[in-house]
Amino acid sequence: MNAVLETQDTVQFSPLPDAFERVDLIEALPLPNPISMLVDPTSLCNFRCQFCPTGDPHLIKQSGRSQNFMPLELLQRILDGVREFEQPLKVLRLYKDGEPLLNPHFAEFVRQAKAVPQVQRVETTTNGSKLDRAMARRLMDAGIDRIVISIEGVSAQKYLEFAKVRIDFDALVENIAYLHSIRGQCQIHVKTVQENLGEGEDAVFRELFGPICDRLFIERTVPSWPTFNIDRLVRRESRELDAQHRPLVRKRVCAYPFYSLSVNSDGTVSPCCVDWRRDLVLGDVRRERLLDIWNGAALAELRRTHIERGRAGNPTCASCGQVDYCATENLDGAEGRLRKAFGATA
Ligand code: SF4
Repeated sequence: MNAVLETQDTVQFSPLPDAFERVDLIEALPLPNPISMLVDPTSLCNFRCQFCPTGDPHLIKQSGRSQNFMPLELLQRILDGVREFEQPLKVLRLYKDGEPLLNPHFAEFVRQAKAVPQVQRVETTTNGSKLDRAMARRLMDAGIDRIVISIEGVSAQKYLEFAKVRIDFDALVENIAYLHSIRGQCQIHVKTVQENLGEGEDAVFRELFGPICDRLFIERTVPSWPTFNIDRLVRRESRELDAQHRPLVRKRVCAYPFYSLSVNSDGTVSPCCVDWRRDLVLGDVRRERLLDIWNGAALAELRRTHIERGRAGNPTCASCGQVDYCATENLDGAEGRLRKAFGATA
């Protein structure tokens, strides 16, 4: 399997991050506000996937992480913060640690986010288990721009093995087909990981989902989480390739603190999508303005650490594989410009 772009009738088989145009980040820094944000509708999930810390309830309990649904009032407070942004928010992703569609207000989250002039695109990533016809219609009515569906196998048995959950697999496929049939301008993307496919199942995955999505991709399981080791699940040959099958580029500086924010379901704010344990919390939108967190001391200190000492300077970032295996942006070599832009001292 490689990442060469192929066209199969109407579906593109290509890495999902390539679906939209990207800005040249170093040229755009410093930014007056984040240009990409995640907001987590819930930290709870109904699947128990082994590659994800949320799939281990014991670990989550030990970590003390809040397990909750984000209330609609909190989402509204976040959106009020976004309305203060000077530059557009290129993408608002409504997911992070949990299964977003479990939140009973999810479609309303989308509708309200779409009503904010600064928000250019609203997306989510879901396991698809709650994506029945009624939900599909609600999401289309709300105006969502992209739905990425993570597939955990090509049969109910594979779901039981990989996600420890019983699902009606035929119903899942039918629901995605229905969603695709009513999608309008919304993009439906489907992905899985190579490790969830057995011998010959690549073809089954393409045959089942190719005709009912706009973009399809098979990623690799990669060791992306800080302080959550999944080495046992990662194939030896995957260690030197990134999630999109490209040669691995190890990076010293993480770009996330320079362009993005992630709001957890309880209102705490992290710099990135993989801060599952809340080690890097920068502030709390229940008490602070988003822009104050963006311009605040905690994020300035994290940026300074990355510019001066690289991610090795922070114990959580030091154990993080997201930067090497999943992130597209690369700020290595631009430390001088970053120092100038952010006023860090050598
Ligand atoms: S290095 Fe990893 S944990 Fe640290 S900010 Fe970047 S993505 Fe997050």
